[in-house]
Amino acid sequence: MSAIILDGNKIASDIRAEVAAEVKSLSASGMRPGLAVILVGNNSASEIYVRGKVKSSEEVGIYSEKHTPPDTISTEKLLELVQDLNSRDEIDGILVQLPLPSQIDSKKILMAVDPAKDVDGFHPVNVGFLSTQRPGLVPCTPAGIMEILKRSNIPIAGQDAVVVGRSDIVGKPTAMLLTNGNATVTICHSKTKDLPGVCRRGDILVAAIGRAGMISREFVKPGATVIDVGMNKVTDHAEFDRLFAGNAKREETFRTKGSTLVGDVHPEVFEVAGALTPVPGGVGPLTIAMLMANTLRAAKLRRGSGKPELLRA
Ligand code: NAP
Repeated sequence: MSAIILDGNKIASDIRAEVAAEVKSLSASGMRPGLAVILVGNNSASEIYVRGKVKSSEEVGIYSEKHTPPDTISTEKLLELVQDLNSRDEIDGILVQLPLPSQIDSKKILMAVDPAKDVDGFHPVNVGFLSTQRPGLVPCTPAGIMEILKRSNIPIAGQDAVVVGRSDIVGKPTAMLLTNGNATVTICHSKTKDLPGVCRRGDILVAAIGRAGMISREFVKPGATVIDVGMNKVTDHAEFDRLFAGNAKREETFRTKGSTLVGDVHPEVFEVAGALTPVPGGVGPLTIAMLMANTLRAAKLRRGSGKPELLRA
């Protein structure tokens, strides 16, 4: 048996097209959604992520602006910037690119973002909305995972779902969304006993660990849907051979670039799973697509008619 590949690029492109159509009609009625991205300092990985977010905004018609304070900025000055963005009606989403420099009190900054503009869905108010099933903003990667499952017609209700990883950004909100979707959910982490045995119970297995190829075939129930959230750069030859020996395409990339991107799921799982998200091209593309969807949603919730009381600015 070999798994169906769940094409994240295609699903993300469909979502972006749907967002673009709605943004167009909202803009025509004078309510163009707006996203402000704050990038502190010169972290090269962060610069790449932010460039992708701004580019994607332009493509779907969302107004975007980028704020780039120096990495010497104080917590107080950064708070002033966030508060200014909170007060501007044409800004619907505020995204503070992490990590922030060490002198900044990151929690204080994230707490200062108006929950109605918190398009990352990290504010405790939005975490509370998610856990109590109220309308709010949901973190982008977990929301993207749900879109992959739904749009691929993978059943969720009544299924056993296992999420490996309990981060606030991926693992916990994914588990909450699956619970809200009526799956029976188990959350695993580094202290879980018999991890392969627990994972094998999952009709849906989500790997959000950050360990290249850790989920091997003995972790997977035959026919399960496996969602690989991991994004790990492999540069070591022995590690590469453990994962991709005999894969001519990967070997070529590895030779020319000196590295390759791999998920938390070992490639051999392709032979056991029923459906699988690839890396790259699986969950990754959904994260930015859902940021666009969240910015549109924030605009509608905050500025549209019938906005929930709790999200009113
Ligand atoms: P994180 O904050 O480091 O959390 C990792 C989780 O994995 C923790 O809960 C940890 O358990 C658990 N874990 C670590 N080693 C384990 C082991 N040997 N056995 C069982 N559990 C183990 O990472 P994250 O931010 O959630 O990200 C996870 C992965 O997803 C990373 O590769 C990241 O790059 C990727 N990611 C991708 C996207 C995307 O757009 N595709 C977005 C976000 C993140 P403890 O809690 O016990 O320490």
